[in-house]
Amino acid sequence: MNDYRQLRINGQRLWDSLMEMAQIGATQKGGCNRQALTDLDKQGRDLFVKWCEDAGCNVTVDEMGNIFAQRPGTGSKGGPDLPPVLTGSHLDTQPTGGKFDGVYGVLAGLEVIRTLNDAGVETEAPVEVAVWTNEEGARFSPAMIGSGVWAGEFDLDYAYARQDKEGNTFGAELERIGYKGQAPAKPRPLAAAFEVHIEQGPILEAEEKTIGVLSGVQGMNWYDLTLIGQPCHAGPSPMEGRRDPFMGLHRILDQLYKLAEEHAPWARATFGDIRVEPGSRNTVPEKLVLAVDLRHPDQKTLDAMDQRFREIAARIAEETGLEHEIREEWRSPAVAFDTKCVEAVRSAVADLGYSNKEMVSGAGHDSVYISRVAPTSMIFVPCEKGLSHNEAENAEPKDLEAGANVLLHAMLKMANPG
Ligand SMILES: [Zn+2]
Repeated sequence: MNDYRQLRINGQRLWDSLMEMAQIGATQKGGCNRQALTDLDKQGRDLFVKWCEDAGCNVTVDEMGNIFAQRPGTGSKGGPDLPPVLTGSHLDTQPTGGKFDGVYGVLAGLEVIRTLNDAGVETEAPVEVAVWTNEEGARFSPAMIGSGVWAGEFDLDYAYARQDKEGNTFGAELERIGYKGQAPAKPRPLAAAFEVHIEQGPILEAEEKTIGVLSGVQGMNWYDLTLIGQPCHAGPSPMEGRRDPFMGLHRILDQLYKLAEEHAPWARATFGDIRVEPGSRNTVPEKLVLAVDLRHPDQKTLDAMDQRFREIAARIAEETGLEHEIREEWRSPAVAFDTKCVEAVRSAVADLGYSNKEMVSGAGHDSVYISRVAPTSMIFVPCEKGLSHNEAENAEPKDLEAGANVLLHAMLKMANPG
């Protein structure tokens, strides 16, 4: 078949599958509570596996419970072992999660396979859909541990030992629901990996664009900034001569907001938490601990922001007679997606004629880890008011359909349709 460019996915079937999956763990407010390795997660996985087997896929499960459903390729040029073109996301949700986060990426992949089956399109490379275990990190921390172990970020034993609030371990729960598979959770050659996801932010909706073409994921650095001064009485102590951590803090904040402005529009500076000691209304505090979150999609720029943050804090602490300390909590380097994969998405969008915007992801996804071991990129579609991790999470059927069409054609470009 050489007119595969005319191929379109079945939007109604995709929507119906999303709604059927959403009944498993459905909440009163219209969302989903299907946390990793619960009985409901097992039910969702069972349904997905059944659908894949009905579509003629070979299903394997690895030792992390990651599921891979493969539609064989013809391998006409490179023999039967051509590396597959993979897509995937996650089926687990937040406790008060929505119907689309992750699930959409999985079921859009299944819809691609169903569409190829209906049209009788063969591909040289196999086409494969993955379900990554425990992306959300809601029940077992950290997030994205299924794709993380697979890509070599975490050890298998570390993952198995993670505990939920009741003390159940990841390994025991994986075994209990029957998804501790045999295949090693290790990377194997992939021709390409794609993930389609709702944006989880407001940009596409606000700009009335249908598709986000992602070039990467923001890098992020987390710190605790501590400022130490001298406690004194709020009344008798004159303003001058005080060593008040807030006097340093307000100048530091001002400089950091300016720093984010200098690197607009992509830089982010967020101060999500602050602790004050001793925390008494009529005492100048001795100590402040501020949570600082700096982000930028370009690693060099983020490194420069890191440097400036340290200089600003040191200089202002000295000028205001404070002691200071910066403790680094966590670092997630910026991800630049594979240029060929991004180009495949870009040209699929152009062929299909959808309005689009080039962007980077502000949130983590399984693709962050996959991209370390395979050529990877992502596709975003708008979600209502940018709401996600919320039971009211919603997306338009026509946007979900468009995203799945882009996924189909990006995958076809990498899988050599015959
Ligand atoms: Zn997600």
